[in-house]
Amino acid sequence: ELEVALKVVIVGNGGVGKSSMIQRYCKGIFTKDYKKTIGVDFLERQIEVDGEEVRLMLWDTAGQEEFDAITKAYYRGAQACVLAFSTTDRDSFEAAHSWKLKVENECGEIPTVIVQNKIDLVDQTVVNPEEAELLARALGCRLLRTSVKEDINVASVFRHLAARCLAE
Ligand code: GDP
Ligand code: MG
Repeated sequence: ELEVALKVVIVGNGGVGKSSMIQRYCKGIFTKDYKKTIGVDFLERQIEVDGEEVRLMLWDTAGQEEFDAITKAYYRGAQACVLAFSTTDRDSFEAAHSWKLKVENECGEIPTVIVQNKIDLVDQTVVNPEEAELLARALGCRLLRTSVKEDINVASVFRHLAARCLAE
């Protein structure tokens, strides 16, 4: 039987929860002070979508995003993208547009989900819901709100991307 393998890149400013999201989804764990370098290029998880086995390879950065130094190798062959910002970090929200352009430059148009992470920190919100919706609409992407900490909506992000890729 044919197995579909998808390379997924996770972009966004440092500190928004990208590495945590990968750990949560692939290993089922959440740690507060998670090491920046995981020492491997990606973690993977296999899921079933519409009766098809899909192997998702979630590529992590080793913190290069903070220096705007993500390599071409990171993006090479990516078929889907998670573009994340944090509920508590205004800069990360403002940067979303330029992250979208960067991915487009390297990968062309690939299925992308905008993720607003850390929704458990509602009392520290610096991005209102309407702004987030407007951003997603402007970028032509689906918006999903997640808490990696509380494990809210994380699986939906990847299910949605896998389904989008299979439909193409
Ligand atoms: P990255 O730089 O984008 O890879 O972000 P990290 O995964 O290293 O996460 C940065 C910090 O945010 C860590 O202390 C995480 O524990 C924390 N964090 C990640 N996701 C969440 C979340 O959903 N809620 C809360 N409260 N903290 C989170
Ligand atoms: Mg990281």
